[in-house]
Order: sequence, then structure tokens, then C-alpha cells
Amino acid sequence: MSAASSQPEIATINGRAVVRRRKKGLVARFWTKVDRRGPDECWLWTGGLKSNGYGQISGDPGPDEYVGRKLSAHRLAYELTHGAIPDGLHVLHRCDNRACVNPAHLFLGTHQDNMADMMGKARHAHGERQPTRKLDRHRVRSIRWLAEHDPGPKRDLATEFGVTAGAITNILKGKSWRLD
Ligand SMILES: [Zn+2]
Repeated sequence: MSAASSQPEIATINGRAVVRRRKKGLVARFWTKVDRRGPDECWLWTGGLKSNGYGQISGDPGPDEYVGRKLSAHRLAYELTHGAIPDGLHVLHRCDNRACVNPAHLFLGTHQDNMADMMGKARHAHGERQPTRKLDRHRVRSIRWLAEHDPGPKRDLATEFGVTAGAITNILKGKSWRLD
């Protein structure tokens, strides 16, 4: 740590001057708490964990929208790598490891996806096949958003959403699920 990083800083909060210790920026702090490994391995969060097993980090200091908040480490990993998370979408784990923040293991889904994903993994553990999941307008929106903003070189939306490749093609071509 350089000498400058431990210098106190005068900040103005609500019109009052306060002295606070300057800390590393959010992005730098974030990556110092990640056990980065190979591209396909889980990158475990070494900072604090919530009782539900997800990593967390203080948003202070950081961009204004994060100050005063406790941020989910996996959501922040997604945002830092892939960009903003659209309202209402969850960041899910391919690897089923809540403490993992490898951006390659994270994908977007709805609350229903999150539930179905957990239940599907539980069923999978018992040797049952995961049934094809129904599409609704929220899932269709997510698929279109992901295809546009986060395609990835080998992104398999059909597997992620539990539908056929043909269904994905139709959605992206607009043949089915016309919205609005
Ligand atoms: Zn992982």
C-alpha cells in the first residue's frame, strides 16, 4: 500500500466537513478479495460472506450509487465484467457455488429462473431429468437482452433457459413472442 492511500481525506457530507481515511477504490478492493484461478475454475470470494453463502463487499468508497450499500460480490463481478444488470434480473451461477465470482460462471436470469435453476440442480443430483421449461415474456426479454448485450463466444442460451435451440432462434428472429 502506498503512503498516499492511507492519508486522511477531507470530505464534505451534508454540508459538514468530515475527515475520512482514503481507501482503495471499489474495483481495486474487489479484485484483491478474489482468489483468481484458471478461466474455467471457480474464483472464490475471500472477503465476507452473507449468511446465505454469497460474498459481500461494502460499496463505500465507490461510485455514488453504491455508497452506503452492502453489495453482492457475484453481482458486482458480473457488472464489472459484463455491464449493468437490467432491473429485476438476477445473477445466477452455472457452477452452483455461491461464493464463486468468476464472471464466466455467472449469467442473468429471472427470479423464476433462479428458483428453477436451484430445483433443477437438486433434481439433477437425484438423477432426474430437468423438464423443458416454459417461456414467458420475462424470460423472452431476458433471452433477447442477453443475445444482444452478452452473447459470449460459446453462450448457450438454450441450455441456460432449458429450451430448444430452435426456440431461441425463433425468439431472436422475432417469429415467436412478439412483445409490445
Ligand atoms: Zn464458479
